[in-house]
Amino acid sequence: MGSANLDLKARIAESWIRANLDAKVLPQRLTALLSGMRRDSNATLDSSARPRSRTIAAQKMLFAAGAAGVLLSNIQTTSIQLVKYGTPSHLALAADVHARLTEPAFLQATAGASRSIVVVAAFLTSPGAPRALGLDLDDGAGIAGEAATTCGQWAVAGADYLRFGLQFTFDRFDRSHPQAISPALVETVCDQLDALCSSELIPAVAALVLDTPEIAAAAERERVLFALNYALRCTLQPMADAQMLMARLGDVPGPRPAAAVACLAQALHHPDVLRLQMAALERVLVHAGLEGALGSVSGRSPETAWWLLREEARLGKVCGLTIGGEPTAAPGEQNDPEHTAGWLEDDHCYAIMGSVCLWNVNEALAGGPSSAASGLDTGKPPSSCVTRVAEAMARLCRGQGLAGAYTPTPEWEFARLMLLQTLLPAVPKGPVSQADLESVPLWLEAAAWLLAVAVEAEAVCSGPGWVQPPPRSTLAALAENGCQTRNIAAVLDFMRSLMEDRHRGVAKLPAHLRADCASRLARTGLATSLDHVMRLGFAAEDRIGVPVPDTLSIAPRRVAALVHMGKVMDVLCPVPEGSSQLMPLSAGSRGRGQHAAAGSASSGVSGGDGSCNVDLPGLLGLLVTASKRAGLLATRLEVALPTDVAPCEEEAFKELIASSSLLLWILVYATAALEKHVLLHVLLARHETVDAAAAAVKAAQLSAAAAVAPAAGTAAVGCVSEAHEVLALASRATCTLAAPLAFLVARRREALLRTEWENGLCMTLLVQLEMILGHMLCRWRPPHALLPAAQLLACQPHRLIASVCAMLRATADFGQADRDLAVGLVSALVALAARDGVSDYAKEWLSPAVEQPEPASSSAAGSATAAEAASSATADLAQPLRGCLVKPLLAVVPRLVELSPTCGGYVLLLLKLAEETPLPASSGDGGGGDFCCTATNILGSMVEGSEAGGRPEVPEVISRALQAASTVLLEGCAPAPVGPLPPALVLEASPAAALRRVRVCGNPDCANFGRAAECRLDLKRCAGCKAVRYCGAECQRAHWRAAHKGECAKLAGE
Ligand SMILES: [Zn+2]
Ligand SMILES: [Zn+2]
Repeated sequence: MGSANLDLKARIAESWIRANLDAKVLPQRLTALLSGMRRDSNATLDSSARPRSRTIAAQKMLFAAGAAGVLLSNIQTTSIQLVKYGTPSHLALAADVHARLTEPAFLQATAGASRSIVVVAAFLTSPGAPRALGLDLDDGAGIAGEAATTCGQWAVAGADYLRFGLQFTFDRFDRSHPQAISPALVETVCDQLDALCSSELIPAVAALVLDTPEIAAAAERERVLFALNYALRCTLQPMADAQMLMARLGDVPGPRPAAAVACLAQALHHPDVLRLQMAALERVLVHAGLEGALGSVSGRSPETAWWLLREEARLGKVCGLTIGGEPTAAPGEQNDPEHTAGWLEDDHCYAIMGSVCLWNVNEALAGGPSSAASGLDTGKPPSSCVTRVAEAMARLCRGQGLAGAYTPTPEWEFARLMLLQTLLPAVPKGPVSQADLESVPLWLEAAAWLLAVAVEAEAVCSGPGWVQPPPRSTLAALAENGCQTRNIAAVLDFMRSLMEDRHRGVAKLPAHLRADCASRLARTGLATSLDHVMRLGFAAEDRIGVPVPDTLSIAPRRVAALVHMGKVMDVLCPVPEGSSQLMPLSAGSRGRGQHAAAGSASSGVSGGDGSCNVDLPGLLGLLVTASKRAGLLATRLEVALPTDVAPCEEEAFKELIASSSLLLWILVYATAALEKHVLLHVLLARHETVDAAAAAVKAAQLSAAAAVAPAAGTAAVGCVSEAHEVLALASRATCTLAAPLAFLVARRREALLRTEWENGLCMTLLVQLEMILGHMLCRWRPPHALLPAAQLLACQPHRLIASVCAMLRATADFGQADRDLAVGLVSALVALAARDGVSDYAKEWLSPAVEQPEPASSSAAGSATAAEAASSATADLAQPLRGCLVKPLLAVVPRLVELSPTCGGYVLLLLKLAEETPLPASSGDGGGGDFCCTATNILGSMVEGSEAGGRPEVPEVISRALQAASTVLLEGCAPAPVGPLPPALVLEASPAAALRRVRVCGNPDCANFGRAAECRLDLKRCAGCKAVRYCGAECQRAHWRAAHKGECAKLAGE
């Protein structure tokens, strides 16, 4: 559109307004018309008057209302043209019109007319009206239809007037630079607000919208519904604007603005306004298709809920708007589907901003959260309302609203407006009431829904290649790029401060409320969201290929959000009762705040199926994605292992390390959450009970029973469920990633890199390694070893241990973290030595090395995957690894002894045992003879010691052996370099192939993150073995050449 054309618009608007001003239509005649409406309405309702004169008064009234409505609407339209397209003088004209229309007399006349028309319309549509007016049924129906239509149209006019009036005021205020806000402007704005508030126009319009009578006649019904739809939006928008205005005005010092703000707040607290807000919220819930939404916020029965909502709930669509499909003509709006989707999303945003946020205003007015709840006639605490609204937002964003007909474009305004955190209250300080505690699960759920909205939007609306789309609607123009990131941070902050609160934090909640937290969080599908976000993020990263400076911040930022989420999941994932005994030493008993709290919690077992309240499909998907990614990052890390980092690659290298560390967090936390689930699953499967309390008792008995027969159970059976398989997959990925990562970081530190970045990284890794060891222990420690021995070996535990040794050697200044890690290391080592089917390997790794030449460079590149790829026909698999842990352990023994003499002693004892006991000729007996037996004893004493809460009690026999070993070996323990990271153990079959249930591409180098979830990839099974799946022919070919050729036939035989 050319500028001449725009100019023309402004000039036409100007001439229309000037003509009306000159003819004194504005405001004198319009005011007279409005006052006349009031008189006529009184005459219509006067039951003492003759029917004939009442009918005439009614018709006069409806006619006047129609005319005044058109005038009012035209004034809005033309004023907007002036503001939008006009010159400064046009703007002045608009300001003049605005000033006239905000005169108290005019406002009062408009409010009065609005109230009158509602009453008259109610009368004219009542069943007794035709008789009272002396009309036959047809005429009665005619005037009723006209009344309803006029009322609906007047609602539009009134709402439009309100919207324009407030927007104009707000715009003027907002455009002025804070310093430039003159006292005169403040005065004008305050005067206008005072006039608006005292006229009670806002509640009058709210009542118009809600009380426009329902009529049966189809044609008029449609028209009125459309009008109400539009009027609702136009009423909510100024309410949202009003809040912004209040915020801005509140910043202006002085008693006058403060009084105006209080006045506006009071006006918005009117019962009719509250009714409208609740109806608007209810509409959002209805549109989102929430169960029982109709009447839920207003507290009405579904039959008596607002009729616009009843109609929309019945039709499953929005009245008067077409979302997708055939567009319908709508007055004043282009109605293409894309446009209407944006329009409708605006509606929902306004409804939420104008309602829930006003709740906060009301709360402030009423002087506190509890009275705010009672101040609303629903009697519901805001937490339950906000939770439902947040769920509705997530559903709408996910395209689940309006029976799937409404799919917003991905640039979700919900997440791109500074909106989400305003729905959440500040976590109050100080002691709590019972109601306060009971609202904690609700608030957490609300936050989780909002977080899902924000992270899903973040996945779509940022990152490489994303361009902010042109605004589709008013609000879209206000939406900010990157806002969803701030939303993520804000919502996470809220969750963290709520969960860690001294009085109402998760640890303080009674068991049933904590279980409620877990099931509510599970419902939100947050894990699924996070999976999608990760995959989209990874796919985007891979498209870029080489990291460029700009993307460095994006990927870690996105993944950083996931780290916090991992914590959320872990804290809230329920732990089966009695499992504290099953939990490993390092995780169970050393009082790591949240862990200890969650571990001692009673069960969060849900209903009757005995499953944990976890978003299991989401969690599994998340772990499959993270595991896949970990494999790729590990391969890249392995390449760096034998070389020193070239300076030119430093940035890329740091990026690789940072991504790996972040991914490790996700793996650690999400695996811990899954571990709890699998643990419970295994316990329940063994005991055929679904009763939580009984399961807990059984669990306690089990630990005694299973100790008798350590070979039984999962270790022999293998993975028993998909979840169990994913646990194996994720454990392998975690260890595969952690080992080279820790080793590289340790080596950088040995090279005296002590920057802040390095220190932070080291600290993070120490904690991560300790947690990994702690949780892995639970999976490999008899008698409750959750991982089958083959899967445990696939984790390459010797490499993890060697890495931890390197870390411990390189860090000497982290105090408690070092000590924790040392205990974890020794516990893990002892557990490995005691573990059936692994003990032989452990012994081999601890035996004195046979001198052999350094590995050639070709095999030095041997990553875990490359090593797996090596022919399985190698004669003696274990041989190259003989003694691989001796050097690393001896190098760290002095530090271990320093940190914990007992721990140092145990290591020496194991080394001594491995040296003295001859290796069994074959591994047929499954145990490692004395070695395994002694390790089991040590383990027992360590467990007892830790459960007693003190220093491990060392049995006499071990104690003596310990002393003997120490004196001999300690002398040979001068600080020495750790040596290279040992190569991977070559396994007979690829561990992935043993996992037949989990849906993941069998190619370890697969980088296909193109779909929202791995299970949505079209995975084809290998025709030969039917054990492995691939996402495509490329992956199948690659894996065939690398490994599968040798194992396919064998797998087919199983
Ligand atoms: Zn693949
Ligand atoms: Zn095959």
